[in-house]
Amino acid sequence: MHNTKLKNILQYNDAGVVALESSVEYAIQVMSSDEISSVIVIDESKKPMGIFTEYDVLKVIAQNIALDISIKEVMTKNVVTISQNKYLHDAYVFLVESGHRHLIVVDEDEKYIGIVSEGDFLRFISLDYLGKMELVEEVMDKTPLIVEASSKIREVAKLMSEQHLDYAIVVQGRKPLGVVDERTITSYISKHVEHNGTPIKELISEKVHFIDKTLYLQEAAKILTEHGVRQLVVLNKEEKIVGLLRRFDVLKAINGSYFEFLVETIEKKSQILEQLITQHKQLEQVDAELQAAEELAHVGSWTWDIIKDQFHGSKESLKIFGLAEDATIDTERLFKATHPDDRKYFLKKIIQAMKSGEYDVTYRIIVDGEVKWIAGSANFFQDDTGKYIQAQGMLQDITVQKMYELELEKLANYDSLTGLTNRIYLLAHLKKLIQRNKRNQNNAAILLLDIDHFRDINDSFGHNVGDELLLQIAKRISNRVRQEDLVCRMSADEFVLVLERLHNKEDVAQVAQEMIEMLSEPFNLSNNIEVHVGVSIGITLIAQDYKDENELLQFADTALFQAKNEGRNCYRFYSDKLTASIQERIRYQNEIFHALQNNEFELYYQPQVRIGSDRIIGMEALIRWNHPQKGLINPDVFIPIAEESSLIAQIGQWTLQEACRQGKIWQDKGYDFHISVNVSMNQLHYHDIVAVVDHALNKSSFKADSLILELTESAMMMQEEKLLTILHTLRSKGIGIAIDDFGTGYSSYSYLKKFPVDILKIDKSFIDDIPYKKDAEAIVKAIIAMSEILEYQILAEGVEYPEQKEFLDANGCHYYQGYLKSKPLPAKEFEKLLFKNM
Ligand code: C2E
Ligand code: CA
Ligand code: CA
Repeated sequence: MHNTKLKNILQYNDAGVVALESSVEYAIQVMSSDEISSVIVIDESKKPMGIFTEYDVLKVIAQNIALDISIKEVMTKNVVTISQNKYLHDAYVFLVESGHRHLIVVDEDEKYIGIVSEGDFLRFISLDYLGKMELVEEVMDKTPLIVEASSKIREVAKLMSEQHLDYAIVVQGRKPLGVVDERTITSYISKHVEHNGTPIKELISEKVHFIDKTLYLQEAAKILTEHGVRQLVVLNKEEKIVGLLRRFDVLKAINGSYFEFLVETIEKKSQILEQLITQHKQLEQVDAELQAAEELAHVGSWTWDIIKDQFHGSKESLKIFGLAEDATIDTERLFKATHPDDRKYFLKKIIQAMKSGEYDVTYRIIVDGEVKWIAGSANFFQDDTGKYIQAQGMLQDITVQKMYELELEKLANYDSLTGLTNRIYLLAHLKKLIQRNKRNQNNAAILLLDIDHFRDINDSFGHNVGDELLLQIAKRISNRVRQEDLVCRMSADEFVLVLERLHNKEDVAQVAQEMIEMLSEPFNLSNNIEVHVGVSIGITLIAQDYKDENELLQFADTALFQAKNEGRNCYRFYSDKLTASIQERIRYQNEIFHALQNNEFELYYQPQVRIGSDRIIGMEALIRWNHPQKGLINPDVFIPIAEESSLIAQIGQWTLQEACRQGKIWQDKGYDFHISVNVSMNQLHYHDIVAVVDHALNKSSFKADSLILELTESAMMMQEEKLLTILHTLRSKGIGIAIDDFGTGYSSYSYLKKFPVDILKIDKSFIDDIPYKKDAEAIVKAIIAMSEILEYQILAEGVEYPEQKEFLDANGCHYYQGYLKSKPLPAKEFEKLLFKNM
């Protein structure tokens, strides 16, 4: 973290950003659809000009302001920004000290780049700082306060205060009974004036849990969380108490220096509070008992005269609320200090207390703009008629503790061995993803990875080796995925990847395949242990299968089961059909790639004939694949698959070169003709077709004016300007342009007119219907008539019968191509046709 800068963890995205001109209504819409609590307002140069929060929304509504006014009228104008070049460490200190929950990050030009929250820091920092495995005995409090069950409360309180401890372990003889904390003691003292004789054992508040001192901290942490307790009593082999392990000790140790840093920062923040407390301690003892209680735990006490609605608060309680000593308080005032999000909850508690006679509540208040966590408890007293007339209670500022707790919650989202997110985090993440997906479709996938036979490795080499292996696996997986993808450790040997923003299903399969390959590389562990593992992967796509997060994981699990059943070290999609078709396509793409290397492609040639003279004037080059196992494969099968990847560019390049090479040989033999070569949409749109053609012509010395490129109507549906440039460049070299499959697209007469085109090829489907269908005849006649106006030459495709040829001849079509003359033929056989043609 010490050398990571803010910019390393940020990506510019305009989520949560609105323009200065936006209306308040729009901002509210953005906030609710993106589920964020504030938006940043930026000007045209992306400079942050203000911030608009949920609180501002309340203000707007309260003041009855029209929602269509500009956001700049109501936003908070002084925004606190921080440069992206700040180190994470410094930025975090700034965040905590300034009391903000987010920082707006800007670049050198003050332009908005993004926003970082406390959570972001945690994510990036905690991984850096992840501590090594430690034992309980290394971090526990080795000198806990142990008191006899019969000790008097007052004595125990005094000991705790002297030793600055907040817990005491209560024992009977040598047998531990439980733990008492300072809150319980103070609460008891404040309610019972006569307590001098009470033995401490009556106050044991928490059921005590024991652990062995040689336990790993991670295990201890689990026990703490599972039982919801704050401390564990540590025993040695002889079952003697040797220490106390508090939640805080565990946190601090597991997260090593990061947590220390965090605590330091938080402590700095609470220093002022501490000062107040010390001052308070020095004050004269007004009410000795109360004072003792308050001192011990920084607790304030109060009474409330319900009939008169009058409060009397102790000094400490006034301080907690940020009030002067002589301030008068009433219900309204107190309620207003309550955090807006907690008001309903607080009210409910009071209403309940009116029935049960007491309450216990943890809630937030806002004092001078700062949020404080308060723990309070109270008793309500009735008069003879059963009416509540008075309440007495106490309250304590537990902000610091609460922050630890919140930290713990956050840390509970990470797996302590690998530092990856855990199942809890994953479920929350998926839930959000599903909600977001319902609004804007975003292809996402869940990959459930299960390490094959991990248990065997664990059993034969031991847990340490197993852990080391898991760490390396986690590292390999994390290195492969993108930053926005989520990697999670689900259970011992199961990992989950959540991939977002996928282009297509093949992308997911590709990642899965790479994972399998990557994890099949041997792992080198310490002590020269080399292990090989395999991985089975179950995949579910979120956009199509989504229901809820548990169900999604269930789907992935079903798919995983299949993958394991079908021999492991493979992946399966939740749906069989999907798996099969995607796998086939990917296999095909690989095969095509190898076919290119192994020269498995061949060009066949089909004659193009002048109808009147029946002479061959040219030929179309049509690709064939001589598959070593499957035999001859037609292009309809593999061209569409190649078109989904960059393979089509390589195929196109090969075809052009091969056609020109063969064409040159025939030209040298004295034949006169043109060659038509098919160009796919992909080649036209994404690859420099002009350069590819130039290269093929130069390499072969084939004459440019003997080359015709066939483009489909749909391929021509692209940016006009760009297409025009390409076509004019090609034309200027003498290359001819033909529109393939004409009639199947939707090009209008006026659209086509704009482009330099030489030949129009009427699609086979129209010719098929001649002479049986009048419609088809009418269309073909119309196309021929149109071509005459546009001065195109016209060629009919797929002519199989003499009647078709006659119809075309009678209606002014000049050329045809089809089985009637010849099927496409390999070069050698085609040459015989050419020879006859001379
Ligand atoms: P296309 O460009 O429309 O090619 C004409 C197709 O019709 C060829 O099929 C040809 O064999 C077939 N054909 C020609 N006359 C007749 C006939 O009288 N009856 C029947 N039933 N069929 C006839 P092929 O060779 O299987 O090619 C299919 C498609 O594959 C082509 O359609 C073209 O779009 C594509 N293709 C072929 N070679 C290449 C190539 O080198 N590059 C690219 N990008 N696409 C190619
Ligand atoms: Ca064609
Ligand atoms: Ca065609």
